[in-house]
Amino acid sequence: MTTPVPYWIAGTARRGTESIPVTHPYDGSSVARVAIASEADVAEAVAAARTAGEPFARTSAAERSEALNHVAGRIAERSEEIAGLITAENGKPLRWARAEAGRAASVFRWAAEEARRFGGEWQRLDTDPQSPGGAAFVGRFPRGPVLGITPFNFPLNLVAHKVAPALAVGAPIIVKPAPGAPLSALLLGELLAETGLPSGAWSVVPVQNDRMPALVADPSLPVVSFTGSGPVGRSIREAVPHKHVTLELGGNAAAVVCPDWSTPEDLDRAAERIAVFANYQAGQSCIAVQRVFADRSVGEELTERVVRRVAALGTGDPREEQTEVGPLIDENAARRVEAWVEEAVGAGARVRTGGRRNGAEYAPTVLTGVPPTARIACEEVFGPVVTIDEVEGSDEAFDRVNDSRFGLQTGVFTHRSDTAFAALTRLHVGGVVIGDVPSVRAEHVPYGGVKESGVGREGVSAAMADLTEPRVLAFPGV
Ligand code: NAD
Repeated sequence: MTTPVPYWIAGTARRGTESIPVTHPYDGSSVARVAIASEADVAEAVAAARTAGEPFARTSAAERSEALNHVAGRIAERSEEIAGLITAENGKPLRWARAEAGRAASVFRWAAEEARRFGGEWQRLDTDPQSPGGAAFVGRFPRGPVLGITPFNFPLNLVAHKVAPALAVGAPIIVKPAPGAPLSALLLGELLAETGLPSGAWSVVPVQNDRMPALVADPSLPVVSFTGSGPVGRSIREAVPHKHVTLELGGNAAAVVCPDWSTPEDLDRAAERIAVFANYQAGQSCIAVQRVFADRSVGEELTERVVRRVAALGTGDPREEQTEVGPLIDENAARRVEAWVEEAVGAGARVRTGGRRNGAEYAPTVLTGVPPTARIACEEVFGPVVTIDEVEGSDEAFDRVNDSRFGLQTGVFTHRSDTAFAALTRLHVGGVVIGDVPSVRAEHVPYGGVKESGVGREGVSAAMADLTEPRVLAFPGV
């Protein structure tokens, strides 16, 4: 049997006694075995994080910044190897795996820069007649050691979004990667081990799900930063209401195509972006395009273009350069998508292309005429399916976008600034993307959702603010 890939307890590689297999989602071939942390090792990681807390917070910004820059550089140097690992563990096509490695390097680079700037601000205390005069320094201090929990769909970049901001502010972090796709996170451990950061500052530990409630409840970890599905996220919040819990959950993101987005070039661009970003990573992104609301004046022309482009997407083995859409994470996920499409068709929807399953692969699919109550419209599909509806003007489109339990991001194809601002004020989401799909995310910009899509924001600076609390040093009357 192959030697299991080690996990990282307080900066040191361990192999424990248990291990689990990681299989390739495309052909089920064996990729690696991964060691699973023993209870004693998890306890050691927690104790090390607790002990490291105060001294780590006092390390210099320069030291932390250099360590983060080192990791950014090493991710860039090893990006082809990392992309191969991401493809193997997660099934996403190489082109998207490369993009993910590049994004993870950016996260560390941004955190390295922000670590030098972060720390607090001066505020005046003479702003009204009753105030004492003088000034106050509002410093920011880590809330304490962080437990980061991440999903399978961006197995490296979402780990980067937990680890880099925590290290930037001097908060120790224990990160728990997704069980099916832990390899790139464990490789990140190798790069962190090269930095010389204090050993208790970080651990990367695969833990079985049934052991997670005890770890979540551990009083030494006052901050839980979770990215994943709604039910698990909500169960964490209910279990530890006294902790600082950040939740990045699911969505059913929409794109709105307004009446002014109407030239053939406009429609070609919207169709290209919608077709690609409904299906990138087989739709397994929380901001993949799931619902399209197109103005009636452009609806049919847009739909024809989207259908043509979706039907032409290169599907198959994610290791091949030309593949644009690979398998879902496993056959169960593809069967669920199949069942939801069948349910919608039974309720009157029309399959314009796709609608077929082969093992864990589901053909990129466009549906029209989907009743709003069908699960494919109102739940998170997390698969390569997009629904297109025609609406009368942007007001109706915005109402339809808001008619959802979720609220992550919305793309609005318009050239008009008044429509852009109307979208910003009317849409109940964490972000609006103008002239593009909702799937656009920059690593340093605040990112997160409202309603059932989450609580709190990530994005390097927002996460650094979230992981710290203000503490005031007042100089009244000076
Ligand atoms: P999941 O909720 O099944 O798992 C996420 C993580 O939680 C894994 O590491 C898992 O092992 C762990 N976990 C499972 N049970 C737990 C428990 N009882 N206590 C603590 N941790 C537990 O999610 P998934 O299937 O890996 O990921 C897909 C979901 O993630 C989708 O809903 C997607 O929208 C969401 N997601 C959200 C964002 C965002 O930024 N909003 C980004 C990516 C993915």
